[in-house]
Amino acid sequence: MTGNEHFIADLSMYANNYSFLGRPLSRELGDAVDVVVMGIPYDLATTGRSGARMGPNGIRQASTNLRWETTRWPWTFSLFDRLSVNDYGDLEFRPGDSHDMMKIVAAECTKILSAGKALLSFGGDHFVTLPLLRGFNIHHGPLALIHFDAHTDTDSKGGPFDHGTMFFPAIEERLIDPFKSIQIGIRTQYNYEMHPFKVIDGAAANDLAVEEIIALVYQCVGDSPAYISFDIDCLDPAYAPGTGTPVAGGITTDRALKLIRGLQDLNLVGMDLVEVAPPYDHSDITSLAGATLALEFLYCLAAK
Ligand code: MN
Ligand code: MN
Repeated sequence: MTGNEHFIADLSMYANNYSFLGRPLSRELGDAVDVVVMGIPYDLATTGRSGARMGPNGIRQASTNLRWETTRWPWTFSLFDRLSVNDYGDLEFRPGDSHDMMKIVAAECTKILSAGKALLSFGGDHFVTLPLLRGFNIHHGPLALIHFDAHTDTDSKGGPFDHGTMFFPAIEERLIDPFKSIQIGIRTQYNYEMHPFKVIDGAAANDLAVEEIIALVYQCVGDSPAYISFDIDCLDPAYAPGTGTPVAGGITTDRALKLIRGLQDLNLVGMDLVEVAPPYDHSDITSLAGATLALEFLYCLAAK
């Protein structure tokens, strides 16, 4: 298919808008599929405002606006000429049963990775990253985590299902290698002395040049299998008002997109985009930011 035919097909971009970027809504894991996108509509681990269970569909709806561009600026190739992407739909679990959610997320993640696919997941609150990392760990061993967030999510005093604690057990379970992992955008309280990760805090994430931040990430991660966990509250509330625990002083969407784009030469194995909570959003600002960051990640995969 030429780019032009693609363009004509996508003129109907507001028709049947049920999947991310209008991709096939399918659980097919055959050879023709390269990347799987899936939703995890779970927000029982929120400590602030709930609503992230509506994140996957918010992101899908906002992605409609991104369908028409065959070659996303400033990339130089058409994404779907290189990469076949399916939307797996949302995982289903028993209401109120966080154990069930964790079991199902880890099992589905393992199944998708076993089939040789890359995986992009939409939360849900940030707690969904823990079962995702369990699934990824089986295939890749301890991962280098590139974590975008206003919060470190390493509080050891939280409950067993808490979206502010899961990177603490993730280290204990050796799902991630803390010495290869880096957090960007942190601007809330954490224990500086005991903290296991390298941190580029919110002020530095705003003040350093994008190239300097990217260089620090490459220095930290090296050639380890790298997993991006993007909590949308890394962005300033001006750019992501639709989230459960917004914190002033974050980075712009532009800066976040440049940072993701800059990670394309790492050994990227997966990404999650979490904490988009459409009930608090305005004009789809947050959902659109989430959808665009996710699209940027797909371009990074396709650039290989
Ligand atoms: Mn956060
Ligand atoms: Mn978080």
